[in-house]
Amino acid sequence: MSTARYCSNCGQKYYPKSYYSYPAFYYQTSDEEKLAYARFHSQGCMNDWLNKNRRAFARLVDEIEYINNNNNRERA
Ligand SMILES: [Zn+2]
Repeated sequence: MSTARYCSNCGQKYYPKSYYSYPAFYYQTSDEEKLAYARFHSQGCMNDWLNKNRRAFARLVDEIEYINNNNNRERA
């Protein structure tokens, strides 16, 4: 299987294993995780995409915060 990916914002081909990709990963992130979760070829493209999709992104963040808060409450 090819390790090339296409940027979700601009369509440019990039290689998460060999070059920077975004969201940025920690230094020791495995190649498998990079290939599974990289979506953008540059930070600018990621920011542009987030801005274009700001409504949906805000809902996603709110939803994740809500889930995390409820999980924390259950553990307490
Ligand atoms: Zn791009």
